[in-house]
Order: sequence, then structure tokens, then C-alpha cells
Amino acid sequence: MADLILGQTLSFAGDPFEEGPGVARHERRGAVLIAEGRIAAVGSADALTAAHPDAAVTDLGAALILPGFVDAHMHYPQTAMIASWGKRLIDWLNTYTFAEEMRLADPAYAAEIAERTLDLALDHGTTTLGSFCTVHAHSADAIFSAAEGRSMAVVAGKTCMDRNTPEGLRDTAQSAYDDSAALIARWHGRGRARYAVTPRFAPTSTPEQLEALGALWAENPTCAMQTHLSEQVDEVAWVRELYPEARDYLDTYEARGLIGPGALFGHAIHLEPRERDRLRESGSALIHCPTSNTFIGSGLFDTARAKTEGQRVGLATDTGGGSSFSMLRTMAAAYEVGQLTGTALHPAHLLWLATEGSARTLRMENEVGTLATGTAADLVALDLGSTPAIAQRAARAEDIWEAVFPTIMMGDDRAVAGVWVAGRRLRGG
Ligand SMILES: [Zn+2]
Repeated sequence: MADLILGQTLSFAGDPFEEGPGVARHERRGAVLIAEGRIAAVGSADALTAAHPDAAVTDLGAALILPGFVDAHMHYPQTAMIASWGKRLIDWLNTYTFAEEMRLADPAYAAEIAERTLDLALDHGTTTLGSFCTVHAHSADAIFSAAEGRSMAVVAGKTCMDRNTPEGLRDTAQSAYDDSAALIARWHGRGRARYAVTPRFAPTSTPEQLEALGALWAENPTCAMQTHLSEQVDEVAWVRELYPEARDYLDTYEARGLIGPGALFGHAIHLEPRERDRLRESGSALIHCPTSNTFIGSGLFDTARAKTEGQRVGLATDTGGGSSFSMLRTMAAAYEVGQLTGTALHPAHLLWLATEGSARTLRMENEVGTLATGTAADLVALDLGSTPAIAQRAARAEDIWEAVFPTIMMGDDRAVAGVWVAGRRLRGG
């Protein structure tokens, strides 16, 4: 039997960075028809109610129905250490991150944190995420198992590191290849799971390990490849010392086959002109993590510039370097960083980045991130007046953008009125 959800609906017929906010499709009294876990139709409430008299109706009133949020870069093992004080990237990793990732050597703890992370993601309206794991192969099993239990589409991979990390968090070039290959065989394409070949970043991999992972990705081209690039100036200088032959930071990956469609580069803030050219030409994606960049003091990513020059850009929390599980808070931070780099991003830009834009970077836009017919019914419904402060501002709104922007800037998990994954309602109601 079909389900019919009534509320305001908002989706995009194109990329608003290229075509302007006018590509948004807003229905003030809209509806989404769900059948067998997929979106069967989107239209006006009156038309779909008349056409499907037997559907089970859920009327959400003025709530705004969107595709579920897509968080293109995060670290589930860092959930329990989010908001750790006072460090910058390298000492933050050494002080907090590696100590916590060490604890995931215990498979039971890894499973507990994986379950907790996906529960928190759903609380905040995030239905798909791309996550790093730890060096332990079972940490990837843990997040894929937790996702399977919720029917969530998750992209993840065992994090590979064979130098500059504590003894308990080190693999080798060969074991990274072997363990990742076994995980790909076990999980990639099983249900909604997608695997990402995952070197943490150039400083914690030897050239031999990056070489092995480049070969693995070439053998499994439908996998994603996720890593970090040019997050902090100190890190860029360190990479220059570690890879004296490389033309620049990106070249440490490029020389070993680790760029191209499906490559996800977290941060990508401090780029050389050659790197910008190669990222664009290769169809790689830049993943903007604004709360992380301000929290760890990394720098300001210029979203408007990247989009204008033709880069693929996604949006992400980067928890626990990021300071929020919420893609609403992440959009707000992207807006603030945009202001500091000279462009006020439109609400259409922000909402597109948090849904379809991120889905495109994961090469999953035919499955998640839109309200297109035939895609998975992964949805979030937002209450646009979830707190008194937001409600009194939204009451003045004269169009959908004025109505939704206070929730983008001031909203949190209290704004999440409902979440559906593969057509099943997992939050609200
Ligand atoms: Zn990260």
C-alpha cells in the first residue's frame, strides 16, 4: 500500500549555483507519494490525494518536506569526542583523535559508536553519510551493519594509515590493500552499502600505501575514494617535507591514481592554481566542512569561487572535528564562511549543497538527495517554527526562502519533524 505525505515540498530542477534559485520547485500545499520504499510521485496535495484515494495519508501541515540530508564527510569513530577543546589539526589528532580511535580496537565499542552515530544522524535529519572508520577492518563492518539495520545508504571505508600514528593504529601497504579488498567484497553494493577506499591523508600513508590503494581503486572503480587535502597550512608544509618529489599536496594522490570522479577531498582550502585545475579537470569533489574549519581554525573555503570555476562541491559536518551533527548548523556555518569570503550564499545554494550537491559528489544522485520519482524515499520534514525565536521570524516571511532561512541559521534537531528512510518513518509521528 502507498503512503502519501502532505506538506510543503521543495526540490531542484538543476544546480542553483549555475541556474539561479529559480530552479527550485516549491509547492506550498504539496505531497510525496511513497510506494515500496521509493518516491512514486511528487505534486500538489489535491491532485495526489484525488489520484490515490487508498493511500495512507500523513498530513504534516506547513512542515517542509525535503530529501534527507546527505553528509558527505564525517568520522563516526569520533562521535564520543566531538567538541574537544583547544587544539589545531596535528595536535588535535594526536591528543584526542588517535586516543579515541584506539578504543575502537574493541569491536563491541565500535558497534556501540556506529549505532549511536546513525541514531544521532537520523535525529538531525541526515539519511546518508560518507564516513571514515578506524584502521580496524571491523570498524567498517560496524558502520555497515548499523546502516543495514536501518536500511540507510552509507558510504564508508576502513581508514588506512601506515606511518605517523601510534603503534596500535597502523596497518601496512599490503594489509591496507588486503583488508580493504575483503571489505569491498563483503559490503560494496550489498543492499544500500557503498565502499570508499580511504587513505586518511598523505602524512599518515607511505607512498607505497597510496600506490597500493590507487591500484585497489582502479580495480574497483565504482567505489568512492575519500581522503583529506590541504586543510591547514602547517599540514601542507609537512606534506612538502614528506613528499619532496611531489609538485604539490594533490600530486601525492594524483601520482598514484587517487583522483577522478568519485574522489572526495575533505576541506581542500589552501590550494595552488595547478591543484584547482586538476581537481576540476579530473571531476574530483571538494567537500566543504565549515564547522570543522572554524572549530579547528583551518581557514575559509570559498564555496562561490569553487562553484564558479566548475568544481564539484559537497557539504559535510566532519564530526568530530566538526562541532555539530546537524546539517542545518553546517549550512549556517557555510553561510557565515561565505560572508567572510565575500558571497552571501542563497538558501537555495545551501539546501542544494546539503542534499543533491553532496549526493552528486558521492555519485549517488540517482538514489538519494532529490525528490525525483524512482529514487529512495529518504526524506526529512522540517518544522519551520521549531522554537519561539525562529517562529516569530518565520511568521514575517513573504516567500519560502524567508520562511526557511531562520531554520537554517537557528535550527537544530528540534526542527526535525519527521525522517523517512526507504519509505519507513524512523523519526517523528
Ligand atoms: Zn575529516
